[in-house]
Amino acid sequence: MARIVMKFGGTSMAGSERIRRVANIVRRQQAAGHEVAVVVSAMAGETDRLVNFCREANALYDPAEYDVVVSSGEQVTSGLLALTLQSMGCKARSWLGWQLPMKTVEAHAKARVDEIDSEALIAAMQSGQIAVIPGFQGVSDENRITTMGRGGSDTSAVAIAAAVKADRCDIYTDVDGVYTTDPRIVAKARKLKYVTYEEMLELASVGAKVLQTRSVSLAMKENVRVQVLSSFIDENAPLADEIPGTMIVSDDEMEELHMERQLVTGIAHDRNEARIVLTRVPDKPGAVSSVFGPLAEASINVDMIIQNVGRDKGETDVTFTVPQADLARAQALLEDKRDAIGFNRIITDAHVAKVSVVGVGMKSHAGVAATMFKALAERGINVQAISTSEIKVSVLIDEDEVELAVRVLHTAYGLDRVDDTVA
Ligand code: ADP
Ligand code: ASP
Ligand code: MG
Repeated sequence: MARIVMKFGGTSMAGSERIRRVANIVRRQQAAGHEVAVVVSAMAGETDRLVNFCREANALYDPAEYDVVVSSGEQVTSGLLALTLQSMGCKARSWLGWQLPMKTVEAHAKARVDEIDSEALIAAMQSGQIAVIPGFQGVSDENRITTMGRGGSDTSAVAIAAAVKADRCDIYTDVDGVYTTDPRIVAKARKLKYVTYEEMLELASVGAKVLQTRSVSLAMKENVRVQVLSSFIDENAPLADEIPGTMIVSDDEMEELHMERQLVTGIAHDRNEARIVLTRVPDKPGAVSSVFGPLAEASINVDMIIQNVGRDKGETDVTFTVPQADLARAQALLEDKRDAIGFNRIITDAHVAKVSVVGVGMKSHAGVAATMFKALAERGINVQAISTSEIKVSVLIDEDEVELAVRVLHTAYGLDRVDDTVA
């Protein structure tokens, strides 16, 4: 008997028919003799709809109230799944964030799991109850509802798995594993049977939304065994133990598997970037900190940064990217600090995207970036900014060119699938 946390994403939960399919997978997993807890997302599109309502109500919305609104989608699906399971004769009960409780810290809309009181949950699971937990939501020190950032149900699931010491955390989604790139963009993408925590972490952090970044770092830290697999399976398909998804493994396990490692593991893209240029910032010590200090205080993550050579002596242009969702706030904040920073103009562009290549092989091989720039240049794709880490290279390009860039790079690094085998 194993203890398993199962997570179902938005597409898997979109409508009564699909919830019934999910309930059937959960019911069968429990019937096979396991203790199960299920974490669910809101129905596909629901969170976007709720976010739009917040924007319409107040463009510079208060994150605490935003959390109240957007967390509701998961409340609906957790209740519906519990009801559906009950209709199949299972003992099922929903556990909202405050009922667990799932305590979180830090900013609203980007909350981090701090601690989960798992005693009651474990007792319920041991008594044969299927615990259905809305993903994405937690509760703050002040007893207010929080949410954990878009895609946060993955992190809820991993956190629950760590708290109840689950044998496995199965992330069911609308694709059957982690691919070399988004299989919806590149038909020749290859499914990876195994991927290391480190590579998955980097892929997620640069936009491969199949897993939320924090879920991967938490899994790595807490040693949670995570598997990605499809919920779109036949009624009588084999259970998770037998179907081939993608298993996230440690570096050591990967070594033991003797898998052939590619230089580049995967390619990801992120359309949620926005570019800000501040012109004629004084070129003196402290100027850069007067720009980025206030953004950090407002919990706005700055990603790529370029400081251009000043056109005029003593002045420089500072270019950087922030998440699109934070653009309005960042802009308002910087306008507010205009005198203190001393810039001339603020230019923003939300029509940009980031494309990244990721691979542990880069640690020991030069030339990955050069291949990238050459392949993009041959297709006339202009690079607006660059950033690198030990195992990735990212470029900022025009949003219209994203899909072409991903395809071109997938081919350039030899990742295209040639037959039906998995990597
Ligand atoms: P869920 O609603 O189940 O959480 P998401 O939409 O968040 O699902 O994540 C699954 C999607 O991630 C897939 O439909 C796919 O388009 C996208 N995706 C992006 N990169 C990858 C990748 N490398 N491998 C698999 N899927 C990817
Ligand atoms: N419903 C939330 C979102 O769309 C959380 C999730 O699906 O993981 O971002
Ligand atoms: Mg997701």
